Amino acid sequence: MFSPKTLQICEPISVLSFMRTFLLLLVCLLPTFTTVLAQKKYTQAAENYFNSIRQEEALLTAFCQQMPKGGDLHHHYSGSVYTETYIEYVIERDFWLNTNTMDVHTENPMNDKTWVQFSALRKDGSLGLYKQKMLEKWSVKDYHPADSDLPQDKHFFTAFSYFRIANVLFNESNWETYKSRLQELKHRAKTENVSYIETAFTYIPCPPFTADLKSYNDSLRLNKNNKLVMSRLLDTLYQNFLRRGIKTCAEQHSKQVEKLHQEAQIDDDKFMMRYQNYAVRIIEPVDVFGQIVTSMWSAEASPLIVGVNFVAPEDNELAMQDYELHMLLFNYCKQKFPKVKTSLHAGELALGMVKPEDLTWHINEAVNTAGAVRIGHGADIAHEKNSYALLDKMKKEKIAVEINLSSNEFVLQLKNDKHPLALYRERGVPIVICTDDAGVLRTNLTEQFILLAKRYPKVTYKDMKQYIYNSILFSFIEENEKKQQLLQLLDSQFEEFEKQFAGK
Ligand SMILES: [Zn+2]
Repeated sequence: MFSPKTLQICEPISVLSFMRTFLLLLVCLLPTFTTVLAQKKYTQAAENYFNSIRQEEALLTAFCQQMPKGGDLHHHYSGSVYTETYIEYVIERDFWLNTNTMDVHTENPMNDKTWVQFSALRKDGSLGLYKQKMLEKWSVKDYHPADSDLPQDKHFFTAFSYFRIANVLFNESNWETYKSRLQELKHRAKTENVSYIETAFTYIPCPPFTADLKSYNDSLRLNKNNKLVMSRLLDTLYQNFLRRGIKTCAEQHSKQVEKLHQEAQIDDDKFMMRYQNYAVRIIEPVDVFGQIVTSMWSAEASPLIVGVNFVAPEDNELAMQDYELHMLLFNYCKQKFPKVKTSLHAGELALGMVKPEDLTWHINEAVNTAGAVRIGHGADIAHEKNSYALLDKMKKEKIAVEINLSSNEFVLQLKNDKHPLALYRERGVPIVICTDDAGVLRTNLTEQFILLAKRYPKVTYKDMKQYIYNSILFSFIEENEKKQQLLQLLDSQFEEFEKQFAGK
């Protein structure tokens, strides 16, 4: 018990000991305090410099190139490998080129003179010219609407079908090709100070589903509003997939991805890559469901496969018709695979592409029905029904939006203040800046930050830094210590980067 006496006795001792502890603390904390102050000064200096150059592109380019950029969370493996790599692949194998269309085949399919082998083009000196023409068809290089048969969005998606011949199936025989392409992506990322990529990797080569299950397509469509029947139908299909051994196939795929990742030596102390599986939205519902379930099984089987995505053009007729059903399929899988995270492309649409009413519900459905924890693009948000409530929900539940400025500009023709970036920012939704398909779009993450800085003057340096940290915080990396490692790396990289502007 305290008494005035004990207090008297203790007082001089406690004051002395307090002073001693205080001095000790001061000595210990002073360097940290000084470092924090110095770092704050460096950050301010970097911000001042950024503000002074943000409208001068060459200066801004050097700034953004050297700035640490954290992760690229909206990234497709096939569209990020640069087109030159695919072209070199078909030339090395001496495939046949259709000199009119720039299609490539392993042999002369028609046995006519428009198909020529690459060795022959090299011999007659025209290979350089045709490589250029291929680049223009196989990517957006030098695209001009007046010279093209296709509108921009169709040109973009058609590019993928041109280089399909070089985007080989994921199996043992193509092991070295995959290794070198992953290393290409890693090397390019590190060159522009990107320390993490989460890529929608590859189609999972497990058996297709439809042949004897076709009748389920109609049943699923007809019963999408009948919860009980839907649940029974999906249970039956799920069990059917299990009986066919697709789970085992999916798990084997994950093991192969792990093996490739190790052998290609992708992770190091300054870089990590993780993978997403994906389903495509432009096929029949049973196939979509099969792909989602396969993707989920595979993701559950490996810490390197961190999530599931949903890809292909959202304005495709089948994709539009079945969108609601697709979200229900994801909803079902969310119950079956609660640990697997989903990032869904949703609202990759613009006025004029579809009927106005179809711009009002895709992001809502992806968030509220499918349970997506990140939204890819989210470009039509301003048109969504109750968009303020939806944005508030995204903020509250920390559902990040993956912004792809170059992609949205080319595919959707959304840029500057037409793009909803400002709306997401104003409502406090977590933002990450990404590339989507840097290879097809002939861009990189640096350019995305240049566009961000030039087009959106309200976005401050502090905001950009937040978006960069978000790219690690909202990543799907499963191992917490790896996430911490990447965050610490960002801290030290920013410290180095910002120090350069002291005294400027
Ligand atoms: Zn995408």
